[in-house]
Amino acid sequence: MVKINKNYNALKESYLFSTTARKIREFQTQNPDKPVIKMGIGDVTKPLTPCVVKALEKASAEMGVAETFRGYGDEQGYGFLREAVQKYYKKIGNVDLDANEIFIADGAKSDLANFTDLFSNDNVIVIPDPVYPVYLDSNVMLGREIVYIEGNEANGFLPMPYEGLKGDIVYLCSPNNPTGAAYNREQLKIWVDYAIKNDMLILYDAAYEAFIEDDNLPRSIYEIEGAKKCAVEFCSLSKTAGFTGTRCGYTIVPNDIVIENKSLNKMWLRRQTTKFNGTSYIVQRGAEAVFSDEGINECYSNIAYYKENAKIIAKALDEIGVWYTGGINSPYVWLKCGMDSWEFFDLLLNEAQVAGTPGSGFGKCGEGYFRLTAFNTRENTIEAMERIKKIFKK
Ligand code: PLP
Repeated sequence: MVKINKNYNALKESYLFSTTARKIREFQTQNPDKPVIKMGIGDVTKPLTPCVVKALEKASAEMGVAETFRGYGDEQGYGFLREAVQKYYKKIGNVDLDANEIFIADGAKSDLANFTDLFSNDNVIVIPDPVYPVYLDSNVMLGREIVYIEGNEANGFLPMPYEGLKGDIVYLCSPNNPTGAAYNREQLKIWVDYAIKNDMLILYDAAYEAFIEDDNLPRSIYEIEGAKKCAVEFCSLSKTAGFTGTRCGYTIVPNDIVIENKSLNKMWLRRQTTKFNGTSYIVQRGAEAVFSDEGINECYSNIAYYKENAKIIAKALDEIGVWYTGGINSPYVWLKCGMDSWEFFDLLLNEAQVAGTPGSGFGKCGEGYFRLTAFNTRENTIEAMERIKKIFKK
C-alpha cells in the first residue's frame, strides 16, 4: 500500500496568492466599471531587454543547425555562463569565486528548496519571520523542527542571532521579501561570526541583490570575511533581468565548507547530477547576455524604473503619514496598516481598487503590515497611490 509523506499534513494551506486573486476576480466581476490595479504581484512587468532577446534568438538558431546543435549541457552549467557569473561577482563585490563553486540553476526557488536534500532531518532550522515562504514549507515537508527569529520595527525587520539561539541551519534573505529590509556589512559579519562559532550553516538568498544601491550594503554574503566557510548563496535572474518566465539562477557552494568530513560542494554536485539535467542552452546564452556590459546597463535601467515606482509609493505614504520601510534597496514597500492585514486588503480593494499583499501571509510577524510592489507600470503606480491617498484623506 502506498504511504504518503505525512509531513505534508503539517503544511499550512498556501492560500495567500490564490485568495487575493479570488477576491480581486470577485470584485472585478461585481464592479466591471472599477478596474483594479494590482500592486501585490511579485512578478515583473518589463519584457526581456533587447540584448538578451538577441542572444536567445541567436542560440535558438544555433540549435537548428547540426554543427552548432547542443544536447545535454555541462553538469554545473556552461563554462561561458559560469565565467560571466565569476566576473559579475568580482565587479559587484570584489568577490573571487572558483568556477566549480558556481552551479547554474533554473531559478532560485528550486535550488533553495532542493538544497534541503543534503541535510539530515534532525537539524533545527532557523527561519526569519516574515519571509519568503519557500524556506519554511520545504523544511516542513521533511518534518524538521523550525525555530523562528522575529523581524519587527524595533530591529528594522532584520533579526540578529542571540546567545542561546537554537539551530543548525539559518535562512537569511537580504534584501528581504516581503519587507525590503537589507543587512549591512556589520550585521552580516555578526551572522557569519555566529555561524562559524556555533557550527551553523547560512543559506543566503540574494535574489534581490541587484536592487541594492547603498554602498554600505553587501551585494553578496561573500563580501564578508569568513562567509566562504559557512554560507551558501542563492541568486536569480528573475528580478534582476525579468527572467521570471525564462528561468535562470545560480547557487554558490564554496569549496571551503566541509561538514562531517564531507565537501558540501561535492554533495551538491552529486545531488544535481542525479536529479537535475540543467538549464537549457538557449536560456544560458540569454543569461550570459545579462552579464555583458550592455546587458547590465539595460537591466539596471529597468530596475531604476521599478525603483522610481517605489519612490512614488514611498512619497505618497509620507504624505499620508503611514509608516513603511523598504523600497530603496528593494522593489517592495512594507507598510504598517494599523489593522488586520486581510481587513486592510479588503479596504484597499473595495475603497481604492488597489490590490496588495497582506503581511500575515509571510508569517505571524507580518500581521498588521502590508506589501506593495514596485513592479507595476509607472501610470498604474501613480494612479494607485492617488487612490490610496484619497481614502486616507477621507
Ligand atoms: N527568493 C526570493 C526572496 C523571492 O522573492 C523569489 C521570487 O519571488 C525567489 C527566491 C524565487 O526566484 P526564482 O524565480 O528564481 O525561482
